[in-house]
Amino acid sequence: MHPQLEILLELQDLKAQKREMEEAAEEHSREIERKVFKVKPEDAVAQLEEKIEEMEAVLEPEVLKRYRLVAERRPRAVVPVLSGTCYGCFVDMPTASPKTNEDIRWCEHCGAFVYFVD
Ligand SMILES: [Zn+2]
Repeated sequence: MHPQLEILLELQDLKAQKREMEEAAEEHSREIERKVFKVKPEDAVAQLEEKIEEMEAVLEPEVLKRYRLVAERRPRAVVPVLSGTCYGCFVDMPTASPKTNEDIRWCEHCGAFVYFVD
């Protein structure tokens, strides 16, 4: 798999994790200290944020630009392609395109980065 594509997938995972932690942090601030958190959700969010910034800095400028654009509009900026169909928008990818994850590719229809799983 293209190293930039791997970073994109990891970024997407970290962002999902961050969203979960943000929700936990909100819950936590409302809650009277019943549960003992080993790491405060607020701190975990800050740490994830730091890691996300660190990883974004490794992305090539054009990749980062597209990533930010897509991530603003869609819950997932990187989506799998199964049986030739983009799972970001469920439109078929052009059949002529080779199924390889060695290049950075995106769906012409929804703009999401794609990786092939079959
Ligand atoms: Zn698509």
